[in-house]
Parts: sequence; structure tokens; C-alpha cells
Amino acid sequence: MTINHRIVLASRPQGSVSIANFRLEGHVVAAPGEGEVLVRVRFLSLDPYMRMRLNDVKSYAAPQALDAVMVGGTVGEVVSSRNPRFSPGDAVVGPGGWQEYHVSDGKALRKVGRSLPLEVYLGPAGMPGVTAWHGIKNIIAPKSGETVVVSAAAGAVGSVAGQLAKAAGARVVGVAGGAAKCRHAVEVLGFDACVDYRGDLTSQLAAATPDGIDGIFENVGGAVMDAAMRRVNVFARIALCGLVSGGYDAQPMPIADATLLLTQRVTLKGFILSDHADIFPAALAELAAMVGSGALRWHCTVAKGIAAAPGAFIGMLGGANLGKQLVDLG
Ligand code: NDP
Repeated sequence: MTINHRIVLASRPQGSVSIANFRLEGHVVAAPGEGEVLVRVRFLSLDPYMRMRLNDVKSYAAPQALDAVMVGGTVGEVVSSRNPRFSPGDAVVGPGGWQEYHVSDGKALRKVGRSLPLEVYLGPAGMPGVTAWHGIKNIIAPKSGETVVVSAAAGAVGSVAGQLAKAAGARVVGVAGGAAKCRHAVEVLGFDACVDYRGDLTSQLAAATPDGIDGIFENVGGAVMDAAMRRVNVFARIALCGLVSGGYDAQPMPIADATLLLTQRVTLKGFILSDHADIFPAALAELAAMVGSGALRWHCTVAKGIAAAPGAFIGMLGGANLGKQLVDLG
């Protein structure tokens, strides 16, 4: 008998998430029924959106149910199949959740190749990459010579967003927490500059954006977003992708000076990637090709074993990750 170890939500956090909000369980692996496949998960993706799902509030998606397996994107291998579309050994991406095995009817599974490491399908050639692709290509659409600022610059989405803006000919300035992440953004990812928001954000941003800011890829909100907004040029575009600095704790997230939106005629567009299913085929193909050719640099921070998932999730929310935060389930 094979046991499926999984993490369920034991209680909803009040404020910050803690390990005690989760519970590790073991259950016998279910056999796939007619039309189903059994998948062994190789990597689990940990994402900031999961924090929002822990709240029982109105949002773009239903809250995570208590005592149910935590939601999450996974990449794994088909172990056994009673679905004609899949064979044992196929590599598949899908919403497997925080567990070692999952049974699926196959509708939400996407086969992926073996020419790239499986990790990339949860990072630069997966949902985070497509998020960056949409915000840069469809919202900011940088012109050559414009300046684009990307927050959470060394993370899964930000690292791709900055590289795509750079490929479009923009001057790219990252904002990240700490000197090591800023060095990574410049020396590895090829950003023109990166500002450590733990220092004097206003003066550092002024130095890094001498011609003002034409595009903001916003992952963080709060003081970071306010500081970038103070430097926007006329007709700037803001792709509001995330508010990880506080907007996920069910608290309001104000913008300091909305006057700038008016006087500088700024376009601010919030987006949720799941509204844009149509862009996935083209974006995934382009991103996978860029990863394969080495044009897109990527990095993962990998925790080991399902029991490590809650701690790694809390760490990621606090900035412990460089690049995409994953859990290796072996
Ligand atoms: P990251 O890999 O960027 O990890 C989260 C990062 O957020 C941390 O590493 C940390 O980096 C940063 N952070 C946390 N707290 C703060 C804070 N108080 N101030 C500044 N930075 C902070 O995550 P992702 O790349 O997966 O996600 C980035 C953003 O994109 C998130 O807001 C996420 O919700 C959003 N997103 C939105 C989607 C959409 O459809 N709109 C889809 C996917 C992601 P640091 O060390 O630099 O502080």
C-alpha cells in the first residue's frame, strides 16, 4: 500500500500565517477510476495567491476549504492511466495540490516535454512566466528606451517580467529586498539597476530612474508602489499584478497619491491571469523557447519533502526565496 502524504488547511490565519494553520495527513493512494489518471507529484509550486485563499472573504476565487488539501500547481508523472490521452511516464502539469499523489480526470492536466527540467513548467515556462508575459506585453508594452520598474524583482514573476522588458529594449530597474537579491537581478538577470527597498527607496529610485518611469510591473503595493508612482512620466502604464506586501491579509491597501494617475494620465490595470486563458499557448511556447535557448535566466529555491511545504510557504511570503519557490517531492 502506498501512502499519500498531504497538507490540509487546519485553521484560518488571523494576521500572519503560522505552521499551526496546516496539518500533515497520510492516506492510502486511491486507484484511478474509468477516465482518470494517477499522478505522482515531482514538484509543488508555492505561490503568494495561496495566502489570499486562506481568508474566508470575497475574492476572485473561492476560499481554500478547511480540512481539504491545500490548492497548488504541480508537475509530476503519470503512474497509471485509465484515460486514453495519458500513458504512464507522461510528464504533466496540473492543480495537484500540496500532496504526493493526485487522481485527475485529465481535464486540467497539460502534458509537457522532457527537454527542459520539470521545474521550469512551474516557473518561467509556467504560470508565473505567463503572468509576467501578459503584464509586460499586453499592459506595459514598453518601447525601446523607456524605463520600466519591476517590484519583487528577484522572484518568480518579477525575474521574468524584467527580462521581457529588457528584451523589448527598455531600461529595467528592479526593486527587491536585500543586496544579494539586487545583485542577482543585475548580474544574473541583466537588469540595468536594482533598488533595495529596505534602504532609502526614494533617493535610490531617483538615482536609478533619471528619466522618470514609463511602466511599473507592480507585485508588492504599499510603500514600494507609492515610491515608483511618484516618478511616473505622462502616459505611464501600471500593470497591477500583486500586492504581496500586505493586501492578502484581508486588510485595505491604499494608494498614497491618486492625483498622479490624473495629472500624469496614467493607465493602471489590475489583472488576474485566469481571465486570460487564450494567451497561454503563445506565451508558454515563447517562454519555453527562451528558457531552452538560454535567453531567459531562471532560478528556483527548493524545499525538500511535503512536510516542509508550510514552512517554505511562510518563508516565501517573507522573502526567503530567490526565484521560484518549489517543494521537491522526490
Ligand atoms: P515571489 O517569487 O516574488 O515571492 C514573493 C516575494 O514577495 C518575496 O520573495 C519577497 O521578495 C516579496 N515580498 C514579500 N513581502 C514584501 C514586502 N512587504 N515588501 C516588498 N516585497 C515583499 O512571488 P511570485 O513571483 O509568485 O508573485 C509575485 C507577485 O505576483 C505576487 O504579488 C503574486 O500574488 C502576484 N501574482 C499575480 C498573478 C495575477 O494573476 N495577477 C499571478 C501570479 C502571481 P523580497 O525579498 O524582494 O521582499
